Amino acid sequence: MADITVEEFAREARAFLDANAEKRPPAREFVWGEGSDEVAVFDEKDRDAEALEAEEAKEWRRLRFDHGLGWITGPEKFGGRALSGAHERAYAAVENEYVTPGMGIFTISLGMVAPTILAHAIPEVQDLYLRDLYRGDMVACQLFSEPGSGSDLASLQTKAIRDGDEWVITGQKVWTSSAHLSEIGEIICRTDPELPKHKGLTGFVVDMRAPGVEIRPLRQMTGGANFNEVFFEEVRVPDTHRLGDVNQGWTVALTTLMNERASIGAGGGGGSGMFGPRRLHAMLEHFGLDRDPVVRDEAARLYSDFTVAKWNNQRALDKIKAGGLPGPELSTAKLALTNNLRAYTEWVARVLGPRITADSGEWGTYAWSKMLLGVPGMRVAGGTDEIMKNIVAERVLGLPKDPGIDSTTPFKDLKVGTQRD
Ligand SMILES: Cc1cc2nc3c(=O)[nH]c(=O)nc-3n(C[C@H](O)[C@H](O)[C@H](O)COP(=O)(O)OP(=O)(O)OC[C@H]3O[C@@H](n4cnc5c(N)ncnc54)[C@H](O)[C@@H]3O)c2cc1C
Repeated sequence: MADITVEEFAREARAFLDANAEKRPPAREFVWGEGSDEVAVFDEKDRDAEALEAEEAKEWRRLRFDHGLGWITGPEKFGGRALSGAHERAYAAVENEYVTPGMGIFTISLGMVAPTILAHAIPEVQDLYLRDLYRGDMVACQLFSEPGSGSDLASLQTKAIRDGDEWVITGQKVWTSSAHLSEIGEIICRTDPELPKHKGLTGFVVDMRAPGVEIRPLRQMTGGANFNEVFFEEVRVPDTHRLGDVNQGWTVALTTLMNERASIGAGGGGGSGMFGPRRLHAMLEHFGLDRDPVVRDEAARLYSDFTVAKWNNQRALDKIKAGGLPGPELSTAKLALTNNLRAYTEWVARVLGPRITADSGEWGTYAWSKMLLGVPGMRVAGGTDEIMKNIVAERVLGLPKDPGIDSTTPFKDLKVGTQRD
């Protein structure tokens, strides 16, 4: 590891940011009716606007990378700085003081797919992609879910058949975020239906521009279309692009999913800024509800729930920082976040009444509709609420496992849809 203290590194980061970005103006006290009333945390942009935003994000990553700030903890051979998590957090804290492009397009690419390539690809494939992914020259998507396989991911049916030094992939994936903006994808395929369902799977890195790949947009109720259906019709992938051993794809998928949960947990503080007490109070005051005992009681409960979730996450993250393993706190983080968001948007909808359903131009009202429509998706992404409850029941409370797990019957003999993880 290079010999630079966290303080020295933070100074380097600040010098880079001073030279390349605007300082964020100091946060002002929230005043009803002033500034933007935007509250959506869910993307509802059209595809042109999304592509433009992706270009800005890529340019920023390139600049960071070329100044040695693109992959702070990564190996030097891929352009990383080989520094500690503390250095990375120091950079994030300094960058937060500046106005820089949103990095949403890299969430899956760098938060989930790149760590899986680092863990499971052969060195030549790591060489081929990791530098480009961290420099923002490439984006990667996650091709796991299928029309009949979401929670029960191991029942997926997209098949890969070996043909000499290549594999031929045929099947359909769905809900693939950012597939249309991605150069490569991490795909899990069935390679041996004679094996039990978790055992006959293999992971690959697939070229999203290869002949036989067709990407079709799916429109969400928020108005956005950042999901896709992806069809594979005899798409050829070199064996070198295999992730891990043949039929060991479940382990590969778990690497990706563990990174997904860790990033959701880390970001699961509950959006306390957006849901700050000042904003809550200003809304109630404006609508003459700040003396209503029931509404006040509910507002206090919401604020407490978000605050408890934030502290719980902080406890889990502090434990990880101190070298411990993620504990039960993280299993509840996503559940707490989605429960709190649901309760909050339902409460806002009650306070605003019909103003949330019709765009009258009134400040701070209809803007909430995007949020209201986006929250159900969060309760599904990265493991549904019910699956999270199963995990908490089994792994935290030690309750008996869900019945119906079959780890011996060959996949081809299973009635798909009846066997669960
Ligand atoms: C915002 C968002 C982004 C996404 N991005 C991606 C992506 O980039 N790549 C990708 O591969 N996928 C992605 N997905 C898909 C996501 O992983 C799946 O939607 C999720 O795993 C649930 O699967 P499903 O939709 O098939 O629902 P199902 O698994 O069919 O579930 C339907 C209902 O049954 C319940 N249920 C299922 N099994 C059980 C059980 N054992 N016990 C109790 N209840 C159960 C569920 O909780 C749910 O309410 C995304 C989804 C969303 C919403």
